[in-house]
Amino acid sequence: MQPNRSRLRYLLGYRCFAKPALYVRFLAGFRKPGKTGQNTALNAPVGVSAWKKAGLANHYLEGRYVEGVRKVAWVTSGAPIEILRALGFYVFYPENHGALCGARKVATEIMQAAEQQGYSPALCSYARTDLGSLLSGKTPLQKIPRPDLLLACTNICQTVLSWYRCLAEYLNVPLYLIDTPFLFRDATPDQIDYVKRQLEGLIPVAEQVAGRSLKWSRLRQVVSWSKEATQLWLEVLETAKAKPSPLTAFDGFIHMAPIVEQRGETHAIRYYRDLLKRLQNRIQRREGAVKEERFRVLWDNLPVWYRLRHLAEFLAERGVNVVASTYTYAWAELAPMMDSNRPLETIARTYLHVFLNRPARSKLKVMEKMIHDFQIDGVILHSDRSCKPYSLGQMDQRDHLVSRLNVPALLLEADHNDSRAFAEQQIRTRLEAFVEMMEQRK
Ligand code: SF4
Repeated sequence: MQPNRSRLRYLLGYRCFAKPALYVRFLAGFRKPGKTGQNTALNAPVGVSAWKKAGLANHYLEGRYVEGVRKVAWVTSGAPIEILRALGFYVFYPENHGALCGARKVATEIMQAAEQQGYSPALCSYARTDLGSLLSGKTPLQKIPRPDLLLACTNICQTVLSWYRCLAEYLNVPLYLIDTPFLFRDATPDQIDYVKRQLEGLIPVAEQVAGRSLKWSRLRQVVSWSKEATQLWLEVLETAKAKPSPLTAFDGFIHMAPIVEQRGETHAIRYYRDLLKRLQNRIQRREGAVKEERFRVLWDNLPVWYRLRHLAEFLAERGVNVVASTYTYAWAELAPMMDSNRPLETIARTYLHVFLNRPARSKLKVMEKMIHDFQIDGVILHSDRSCKPYSLGQMDQRDHLVSRLNVPALLLEADHNDSRAFAEQQIRTRLEAFVEMMEQRK
């Protein structure tokens, strides 16, 4: 599309019409009485104001109009996006889009388009959803902006290497890869320096694509916004320490969208401030997310996006509140590491220490602490067929929890996005047995 036409479409189509219409729609919807919580064992989930919800939806809406107006980067979930934000990029997360497809129950159909082109069903279902969407053009978002730059970081897995190389070839756009050495202990100065030098290498590449120079004051500002949002997200999750817990981990999976997609923007800060206030009010009213909370459970690994509501209700009907998850916590635990006065070193250190770039024993330590802090009665370890790095070591972790900590633990086999791996009846039976186990220990 011609640059002038793109700008006109952005200004008139998006700024003057679509964005105001989106806010009006959300504000009007906000006044309708909520339906959730009336016939189930769950109270209506704590949300944020309609204005904040619209701010989140606006991120995807802008994506439909942004091509040719702002530069677009597609990034992996663990990519250090602060440099791109400071340069004004519109940042799109294929993994989040995959989760959205999963939650809308269209991911399996979309990923089959990738499988028909020869991609193995053993490949991560986020990658298959993303590639399937690219090959078939199917998406619940109507339109995904074409990237000008791809940024992948190996701190979450090695799958992203091949996935993003395929994207670079299909889309014919530059790909910048950041390699993070696996941490067996805390990062050494050499390891931090190694990643920092790659960040320094990213700056001229991103500047060239963006057509502008990086302002260091802006980068410092973005890093401080990232830190503040991460800190607030941690406080949100920690409200679940209250008894009864005001939120479930299933709510947390939904509310994590801003910390992933809008980290480094002010909207994420406003969103979590609002959510935190509402959760604190609920704690004061002593109102739980589950009407009769009898058991408090920890969830390990990614959610099962296409069965979120189903699992939340099934467990709540049996008095189970899944109050915490290692997955949502992974986006919160590193807040103290950030320091806007040393942005590149801070970014290098923080993104090196993400959950999946540390050994299984490190996750086990975090789980033990969560079991203590959240007064957990049992643990569900989702053995996610897609995500090998997250699922590795779960059998040993389960055995450790059961034998050393005397905590009932269940290994539940499924897949975060591929509904063909969800054996409904078997999962119900195993969850029933798990609840009985907790019952016997009461
Ligand atoms: S394999 Fe796991 S970490 Fe890697 S992209 Fe898939 S879900 Fe994310």
